[in-house]
Amino acid sequence: MTEPTEPSRPDSGAIFRAFAALLSGDPPTWRRLIQEHVPTESGHCAAPLCGRPGYGTPDYVPHPCGARAVADAARELHR
Ligand SMILES: [Zn+2]
Repeated sequence: MTEPTEPSRPDSGAIFRAFAALLSGDPPTWRRLIQEHVPTESGHCAAPLCGRPGYGTPDYVPHPCGARAVADAARELHR
């Protein structure tokens, strides 16, 4: 019996770029993400989705969060 080989996986950077490229073709979506995922005074993301799980309070995920980062990348690709 042979050892199962690790399937080749794209690195997270490749996934990020592929998703940003996909998102760049959907301006209403990345514009909405940029409007919702804004920093709070404490430097966290204000979007409810990035709030503390079970509470929704905004001071949880440092800004820019992953959603904002990929939306910014999509906006750059759209230009
Ligand atoms: Zn966010």
